[in-house]
Amino acid sequence: MSIKITHIDYMYICCGTSWWLHVNHKRAVVIGGGIAGLCATRVLRDHFDEVVLVERDSSFADGDRRGTPQAKHHHLLLARGLRELDRLFPGFAARLTELGAVELDLGVDLAVARPEGWVPRVRTGIRTLHASRALVERVVADMLKRWNNIRFRFDTDVVGLRVSGGVAQTVSGVRVRACDRAADEVIDADLVVDTTGRSSRLHQWLAPFGKAPPPETVVDPKIGYVSGWFETKSEAQWPKEWWWRAVTVGPMTIECPYAAALFPQENGTWVATLAYGDRPAPRGEATFFSILRSLRSPLVAEMLERTRPISGWHGFQQMPNRLRHFEKWRSPLGGLVVTGDAVCTFNPIYGQGMTVAVLMALNLGAQLERTDVHHPAFSRRFFAAQAEVLSDAWRLATGADFQLPWTVGKRPLGDSVISRYTEALLLASKRELPLRPLLFEVFHLLRPLSSLEQPAVVARVLRQQIVKQIVRAPKGAAYPPLPSA
Ligand SMILES: Cc1cc2nc3c(=O)[nH]c(=O)nc-3n(C[C@H](O)[C@H](O)[C@H](O)COP(=O)(O)OP(=O)(O)OC[C@H]3O[C@@H](n4cnc5c(N)ncnc54)[C@H](O)[C@@H]3O)c2cc1C
Repeated sequence: MSIKITHIDYMYICCGTSWWLHVNHKRAVVIGGGIAGLCATRVLRDHFDEVVLVERDSSFADGDRRGTPQAKHHHLLLARGLRELDRLFPGFAARLTELGAVELDLGVDLAVARPEGWVPRVRTGIRTLHASRALVERVVADMLKRWNNIRFRFDTDVVGLRVSGGVAQTVSGVRVRACDRAADEVIDADLVVDTTGRSSRLHQWLAPFGKAPPPETVVDPKIGYVSGWFETKSEAQWPKEWWWRAVTVGPMTIECPYAAALFPQENGTWVATLAYGDRPAPRGEATFFSILRSLRSPLVAEMLERTRPISGWHGFQQMPNRLRHFEKWRSPLGGLVVTGDAVCTFNPIYGQGMTVAVLMALNLGAQLERTDVHHPAFSRRFFAAQAEVLSDAWRLATGADFQLPWTVGKRPLGDSVISRYTEALLLASKRELPLRPLLFEVFHLLRPLSSLEQPAVVARVLRQQIVKQIVRAPKGAAYPPLPSA
């Protein structure tokens, strides 16, 4: 093994700091207790004497909390996210199940209506758990209480950074305003992690120190969500031939700019989401149901008619894919990193946000193993590695969104070829059944996107392009075929 020592490492050694030793630093401060903040806190507690998690809401337990309005909408936890959360928090999956989460194999339990027909069922053997985001967050937060070097500061708003040093500026703490105290206070930190989500105010916090925010890329599919929560007494009340335990109807197209999903959640509850593209939000229950009935399958509406609503209708607009390129930031501040939605948001239809937040936290841990947090190159190395972590999820989400004619953003080179290939792959997977688990694994971030470019996969896609006989279920069938069909 060869060890490469860079110029910066050399200077660091000369300054006499023993960066090769694994030392615990004094304190890390995490701003924001969403999934990204909770996971970052978990990772940091292995590297710091103390981790302070500052959250402006009063607790995590509440699905209605102000800081996470998205919790009112369906949150799919991808299989990779489940696997990594269970590694970070041993017993996570068992606890989520104990609290009522529903286990599904989405290859066989999910009925998927697409323009060309119903997607054939294939057992993937990959476990997914379905629960509200509020429950996922609560289980993770409860597990964090196991460690006694984590301190929670609720009802406390971070209002700025403290920056020290001359030319090489370093963040050395945060300014906070607690709701029960008149004066601001400073919490010292060796490392500050911004996980304040899509409405991060980091750019405002940087301005007093003459720092511009990093460049960003936005790909906006101009979509919105309307979601509602429902309850069933028991699935037994549904017709026997309804084998499915969740349904999606989509994707959006120019002819039908809507997609719908119905998923079971904990304790007999269901969440229904109607996604719409490039138009105002549908208003009122009657409109919502009439759109659901007009889709290529009315199944979601018919299932909902057998349930009881337990919430009002919640809307969410402005959900572009936004990538802040911290890896291209000309002058990163020492002592500061950013993860979660504060770095990258995705069109939520692909269910990637929570999983990618966990992966970013794991990267934080990996970088702390390699480079001391006070090393001048720490932030730069962290952001470079984080860009790699984000790459596949970003390409998957934006690649799919660029198939919508109304999506706004700069198309990457070769994008139309990739889009056509992906579409051909999806269609081919209907007859080439081994492609289905592979696609599933890629979409669930269990395998790299490059797996879809392997010669054997390309050959199967080409074969189906030639055969051109790709649809088994009759096109336009409103109901999924029975398992034997
Ligand atoms: C409608 C919608 C549907 C989604 N569906 C899915 C899905 O199906 N699957 C999926 O994986 N992801 C989904 N996501 C994305 C997912 O919610 C996030 O990616 C994920 O939760 C990570 O968010 P986060 O922790 O970075 O930020 P957030 O969850 O937004 O948390 C930020 C936290 O910071 C706190 N905060 C903010 N400012 C301050 C401050 N100044 N001081 C102190 N605290 C502060 C807030 O109170 C909040 O607790 C969806 C998102 C939306 C909008």
